[in-house]
Amino acid sequence: MSKKEVGRGARTRSEEEGSTPEPLSGDRALEELRARGADRLVKVSFRANRRTIWSVTGGGTVLNLHEGYRRADPELLDHLALVARHPRGGPPEARKARQVVRHHPPLIEALEAIHDTRRPPRTGPNCATPAQQAYLDALYGALNRATFAGALPAGLPIRLSRRMRSTWGKVTLGRRRRSRVVTELALNLDLMLEANDALRLEVMLHEMAHVEAWILHGDRGHGRHWKRIARRVGCTPRARSRRPVATRKDPDHGVERVPPFPPGLSLGDEAPVQGELFR
Ligand SMILES: [Zn+2]
Repeated sequence: MSKKEVGRGARTRSEEEGSTPEPLSGDRALEELRARGADRLVKVSFRANRRTIWSVTGGGTVLNLHEGYRRADPELLDHLALVARHPRGGPPEARKARQVVRHHPPLIEALEAIHDTRRPPRTGPNCATPAQQAYLDALYGALNRATFAGALPAGLPIRLSRRMRSTWGKVTLGRRRRSRVVTELALNLDLMLEANDALRLEVMLHEMAHVEAWILHGDRGHGRHWKRIARRVGCTPRARSRRPVATRKDPDHGVERVPPFPPGLSLGDEAPVQGELFR
C-alpha cells in the first residue's frame, strides 16, 4: 500500500475502476490482433517462458506470447499486431513496436516473478521488538481465521521496516516450482504509532487481500480479484488509503509501542505467552 497520495484523494490511472484490462485468452488476443491487421495469424498461444517473450512460428501464422501479455491494453495490442506482421525487419514502426513490447510493465513483473523462483527475494532488516513481533504474528493469525476463513498461509513471516518511506505495507510474491507463494509481509514501523491504530488494521487487511489475490488468482496488483477481496474483508478497495496518518518525528528513531489488539478478534492458538501485551 502506497502512502504517497494519502488524504488528497488524487487517483492515478491504474487505480480507476475497470482500467486494469481483463486477462486475454488466446482466442480473444487472436481476434484483437487480426482486427489490427495481423490477418495471417491463425493462432495465439500464451506461455510462461523464462526468456522468450514472443515468437512467431508456423510460417508466420502462430504468435506465441509470454503470459505477461495477457493484460495488454489496446495500445500494446497495436504494437503486438505490428510485431506479428513483422517479426523481423519491416518499417520503422515495426522496429519501434518490438522495442515497446519488450518494456511492457506486466511482462516485466511476470518475468521477475519467474526469476523469484531461482533466488530468494531480498528483504530488509526487521526492527520489531519481540513483543511487537508476537503482536503482529497474532494479529495476522486472528485476521486470517476471522476474515479469510484461514485460507492464507499460516505463519507468514511478518517484518517491521523503519526504512519504508513511500509505502505502508508490502508483500513479497513469488513462485516455487509451479505454485505461487508469498514469502513476507512487511509493514512500515510508523503503523505502530497510536495515531495509526485504525490505519494499521486497514493496511493489514489490504496486504492480506494481496496474499489471497496472488495465491488463489495470480493477481499481483490492485486488479479485479484484489478489489473484490478488499471489499469482502472490509478495507478500501484502493491502492492508497485516505486515512489521516502520523509519522514518527525522527525516522532514525525506533518505536517500541505494542498496540492494543483490535476488539472482537480472538487470539486463538497464536496467542503469545505474554497475553497482557494486549490490553
Ligand atoms: Zn496494495
